[in-house]
Amino acid sequence: MVNTNHFMELALAEARSAGARGEVPIGAVLVLDNAVVAKAGNRTRELNDVTEHAEITVIRMACEALGQERLTGADLYVTLEPCTMCAAAISFARIRRLYYGAEDPKGGGVDNGVRFYRQPTCHHTPEVYSGIAERDAANILREFFQQKRMED
Ligand SMILES: [Zn+2]
Repeated sequence: MVNTNHFMELALAEARSAGARGEVPIGAVLVLDNAVVAKAGNRTRELNDVTEHAEITVIRMACEALGQERLTGADLYVTLEPCTMCAAAISFARIRRLYYGAEDPKGGGVDNGVRFYRQPTCHHTPEVYSGIAERDAANILREFFQQKRMED
């Protein structure tokens, strides 16, 4: 569990900068052999693309950087429980371990909702570690939505 909090701190920084850009503040970091391969925050608004969740973005960036389709042995750190789309992409990319911060009872697909990794149609299940820097991850989202409500 070396550097777990360090990598989650980097994901939290990506979440904060996504929030500063007006995106939902979620950040992700892709790590292979203890080195950061890609880090990003949500970009759905900037790119007008609903698939640009932080997890998908770091998977795309890492696959491009490494010139490969799958990320076997890689670990993904994300500040919020992945949605169903991202949970599936993490599985398809053969990611080894998923570390996430706060649970997402409304939109999560790992420990909530469809619980994708527990379905017989899921053919690769990463090890899942939740609650990493959970309070910080949840606070960033709470403050973002409070701010948005004040602006509306
Ligand atoms: Zn997602």
